[in-house]
Amino acid sequence: MILNRRGFIKLSVAAGSFLAFAGLGFNMKPTTAKAQLLRINWGRETTSICCYCSVGCGLLVHTSKEGQGRTINVEGDPDHPISEGSLCAKGASVYQLAENENRLTKVLYRAPYTDKWVEAPWDWAITRIARKVKEARDETFVKTNDQGQVVNRTDGIAHVGSAALDNEECWYLQALMRSLGLVYIEHQARLCHSSSVPSLAESYGRGAMTNHYTDLMNSDCILMMGGNPAECHPVTFKWIMKAKENGATLISVDPRYNRSSSKADIFAPMRSGTDIPFLLGMVKYILDNDLYFKDYVVNYTNAAFLVNPDFYFDPEEGLFSGFQKKSETNFAVFGSYDRDSWSFQKDNDGIPKRDTSLQDPNCVFQLLKKHVERYTLDRVSETTGTPRDKLEEVYKAFAATGAPDKSGTNTYAMGWTQHTIAVQLIRSMAMIQLLLGNVGNAGGGVNALRGESNVQGSTDSALLYHIIPAYNPTPRASWPTLEDYNKANTPVSHDPKSANWWQNRPKYIASLLKAMYPDKEPSESYNYMPRLDAGQDCSWLVMFDHMHQGKFKGLFAWGMNPAVSGADTNKTREALSKLDWLVNVNIFHNETGSFWHGPGMDPGRIKTEVFMLPAAVFYEKEGSITNSGRWAQWRYEGPKPLGGSKRDGDMMVMLARRLKALYQEEGGEFPEPIANFNLDNIVTDGKFDVEKMARLHNGYFLRDKTIDGTTYKAGTQVPSFALLQDDGSTACGNWLYCGSFTEDGNLMARRDKTQTDMQANIALFPNWSWAWPVNRRVLYNRASVDKNGRPYAPDKAVIKWQDNQWVGDVPDGGWGPSEKHPFIMTTEGYGRLFGPGLVDGPFPEHYEPLECPFEEQPFSKQLHNPVALHFEGEKRAVCDPRYPFVGTTYRVTEHWQSGVMTRWTPWLLECMPELFAEIDPELAKLREINNGDKVIVENPRGRVKAVAIVSHRLAPYKVMGQNLHMVGLPWHYGWLQPKDSGDAANLLTPAVGDANTGIPETKAFMVNIRKA
Ligand code: SF4
Repeated sequence: MILNRRGFIKLSVAAGSFLAFAGLGFNMKPTTAKAQLLRINWGRETTSICCYCSVGCGLLVHTSKEGQGRTINVEGDPDHPISEGSLCAKGASVYQLAENENRLTKVLYRAPYTDKWVEAPWDWAITRIARKVKEARDETFVKTNDQGQVVNRTDGIAHVGSAALDNEECWYLQALMRSLGLVYIEHQARLCHSSSVPSLAESYGRGAMTNHYTDLMNSDCILMMGGNPAECHPVTFKWIMKAKENGATLISVDPRYNRSSSKADIFAPMRSGTDIPFLLGMVKYILDNDLYFKDYVVNYTNAAFLVNPDFYFDPEEGLFSGFQKKSETNFAVFGSYDRDSWSFQKDNDGIPKRDTSLQDPNCVFQLLKKHVERYTLDRVSETTGTPRDKLEEVYKAFAATGAPDKSGTNTYAMGWTQHTIAVQLIRSMAMIQLLLGNVGNAGGGVNALRGESNVQGSTDSALLYHIIPAYNPTPRASWPTLEDYNKANTPVSHDPKSANWWQNRPKYIASLLKAMYPDKEPSESYNYMPRLDAGQDCSWLVMFDHMHQGKFKGLFAWGMNPAVSGADTNKTREALSKLDWLVNVNIFHNETGSFWHGPGMDPGRIKTEVFMLPAAVFYEKEGSITNSGRWAQWRYEGPKPLGGSKRDGDMMVMLARRLKALYQEEGGEFPEPIANFNLDNIVTDGKFDVEKMARLHNGYFLRDKTIDGTTYKAGTQVPSFALLQDDGSTACGNWLYCGSFTEDGNLMARRDKTQTDMQANIALFPNWSWAWPVNRRVLYNRASVDKNGRPYAPDKAVIKWQDNQWVGDVPDGGWGPSEKHPFIMTTEGYGRLFGPGLVDGPFPEHYEPLECPFEEQPFSKQLHNPVALHFEGEKRAVCDPRYPFVGTTYRVTEHWQSGVMTRWTPWLLECMPELFAEIDPELAKLREINNGDKVIVENPRGRVKAVAIVSHRLAPYKVMGQNLHMVGLPWHYGWLQPKDSGDAANLLTPAVGDANTGIPETKAFMVNIRKA
C-alpha cells in the first residue's frame, strides 16, 4: 500500500479525533485500526514532550523506517500522567512543525546593505561567525572598570535565547556565552515570568511553581487570576475540572470573560493592572474576619517577627521609609529606596525577635494590618471596577480555604507577571497563601504557569544576566575572589532551627566552576567569569535600549524573535539595524532574522550582516525539558534533523571549537576562559553528546572522595546535592539537578506510574520523570504538617511522620518533625509576609500602570511605582485624550508566543489567521465599528491594523468616575508570515519595566481605536 503525505495526515488526524467522533456516534474503528497498523509495520515509536507550553504533555512520535525516515504520525501519549493522551490544538499539530515545506534547511546569509539572502555552507558560516565574535570580543573586551576592579567582560556582544532548547543545551549555551565574557545574556524568561522568581523566592525561598499540574485536582478552591489556563495552558484544565468535579469552587478574575471564566463558579471582572488592590482587599478581609490559619501564621511565617522601629509606610505619600527621590515628571516621582530600615530586630544571639501573641505594634502582623487598612471594599471596587458584591463573593470563597484541612490555590501567568508592579502583585498572592496556610499542602500554593515548554529549565540554567546556573548571583566587580563571592552571598543564620540551605552555596559554585573549567581550581576559574559593575542592569529593555544607541556589535538571537516579542517593537527593530552582525537560529524565517526587509526598513541602508542558522525541531533530537511543575522529562529523537538543519547542541559545539582554534592560533584578549572551556567532556565524535552533558548537569566526582565513611570513586555520579563539595572534587552544572542522572541511570527518562496509596491519593507520580529538587513534588511540604509531623489535611496528606520516618513525598529536608523551621531556603526558616529583600517595598502597594488614564489614584499621592524601570525620552500616554482606551495583550490557544512556529503551521493558521482587536459593544458603537471591520489600533509608539471583534466578553468599567473601555489584542502576529495578517501587538506596548526584574509592562497601556 502506497500512501502519500496527505494520506498519512488524514489517517493521523482521524486517529486523533477518534474519541471525539466516537462520542458523536460515528464509527471510526476501521480507519483507526488502519492507522495503528501503519505505525506498527512502518514506524519506529519514540516518546517526546510537547514543545509549546509548560504543561509538558506527552507525545508518541512515529518515524518511518523506510524512505527518508520522516515522521508519519504524532499523537498524545495515553500513558502520560499529566496529559493522559490529550493534546490541545498546538500539541496536536506538531507533526507539521517537522514535516513542513517552509522549514529552513540551509544556512542563509545576508551581506551588509544587500536585499537578499544567499545560501551558505555550514563551515563557512561558522567560521565567519567565529571570526565576527572574536573581532567584536577583542575590540570591546574590558579587563577592568573605571574603579580599577577586574570585570573580564565584553559589553559589545549580546545574547537572547532560549527556552525552546533542552536543558542540556541551555546549560551549555550559557557556559559558552559566559566563557566569551558576555553579561548581556537574556531570554524569554525575562519577558514572561522573571517577576515570579524574586517574588516567590522572597516569600518562600524558591522562585518556582510551588506545586505541580496534577496536584491541581486536590484543591478546594482555584483562583484563576492573571491567567486563562483554558486557553493558554489547555491541558491544565483537565486537572482544574477534576477539582471542580470533586467539589472545588472555581473563581475567574480577569479583565475579560474568557474561556476559563466560562467554567468558573464565580467570575469577577477587574480592570487590567489593579490586581494589587483586589488582593490586598482580600488580605484585609482575611484579617478583619479572623480567617487566617493561626497555628500556621504564628509558627511558619514571619508574622511574629519584630520589625526595625525606623521602618514606616507613609499612606498619604504612598512611600516606604528610605525613599530617595531622583526625578519628577508631571504625574510621577521616581527614585530608589535605602532599605536599611526594612529589617528585623534581633536578640543577643542574632536571632530575629518574635512576639507570638502578634500584638506588638512593630510585629509584622500588626504592620500588615495597618498597611491594608486603606484597602476597603469601596475603595477597591472604585479602583478595580469590580462590583463590591463580587469582591465579597470571591474573598469569602477563597478565604474559606484557611481551614486547616482545606486548600486553595492560584494559577497565573502573564496577566500578573507583565506589570511595573508585577513582583509585588505576585507577592500579594503569596502572602494570602501564607495567611491561609496554603503553602506546602496538596491543592495549595502559588502556581506560576509558565509559557514555554522549557522556560523553567532555561531559567534554572540562567540564560539571564543577573544569575548563573541554579539561582546563584552573577559575579560582581566588588567580589574579586571566590572567597569574596562566597562571603557576600552565603547567608548566615544564628537560629539552630533554621536550615538556611543557601549556606551550602560555596559547594554549588565550586562544582559549577569545575563543570565549566574542569582543569582549573575553582579559585582560579572564578576569574574567568565575567563580572557586573555595581548597579549594572543588563536586562532585556536595557539591552535593547543600549542596542538602539549602537552600543553592541553583535547579537545572538537563539530560538527567539525579539522583533515581535519585545515591548516597543519599533524600537527593538530599529535597534537590530544598529548591529554589525546578527546570528539568528530558528526553524522558520521570522521577523528578527528578516528585520532588514521589514516595514519601514531600507535594506540598502542597513549594515547588519545576518546569519540564519536552521535548527532541528524538538523531536529530531534528544534531551530533557522541565515543565512548570519542575518535572524534568526526557525526550527522544524521532527522525533525524531535516535537510541541512542541525541540532542546537551541535551548532554550539561547532562554534566553541572554532573559537577555541582561533584563539589558539592567533591569541587575543583574555583567551584563558576559551582555552579552558569544557568541550571534551560533552562531545563524542565531534557532536554534542546529550547524555554526557546530562551526566555533567547532575554532577560527578572528579577524584576519589570519602564522605561520612563512604568513598566515591572518581567518575561516579553524585547521588544528591548534599554530597557536592567546595574543594574542587565534584563537578556539577546545576546543583538543583543533582540526583537527576545518578548511578541508577537517567531518572528523567522514567515512565513508571507506580506509587503508594498515599501518593496516589494526591496524584504525586514520584516515579514518573524526575522533579527538582531531589524529586520533591510539592515544595515546602514540611509546612503541611504540625509540629508532630501530623498532616493538617489528613485526607490529602503530602507527607507524614510514621514509624520514625517521613512517608509520602520527599520531605523538605530529612530532619524529624519540628527539628527545623519549614521554609528551609529562607535564611530565617519562615515564610515571609514582610519581604525586606525587594527593591520596591516589603509589602505590596497599589500604583497605576506607567500608562494609565488617571492623574491620581485613591490609595496615595504616588501614581506610579516610584522605582519602576523607565527610560528618558520614552513616549508614554498618561491621561492623554488621544489615547483614551486601556490596551492589553493575550494569547490564543492556536498560536504560541511570537508565532514563529504556529504561524507556519497550516492547521493552526487556518484556525486563527490574523490579528484581531477585541472591544465591547458600547465602544464599538462609540467608534462606529462593526464586527469584522478593519480597524487601526494606535498610540505614540506604533499602530497595527486588525479585524474588529465586537464581543460581550469585554464590558466597560466604571472606575473612579470614568467609563473605561478596553482593547484586547493577541500578540502572536508579525508582518512576515502570513502576509497582511497584521503586525505585532507589541508595537504598541511601552518599554517600561518592573522595578525588581525589568519585565515589560505589556498588560496595561493606552491606545486609540478607529475604523481603518
Ligand atoms: S501546548 Fe501545552 S497544553 Fe497544549 S499540548 Fe502542548 S503542552 Fe499540552
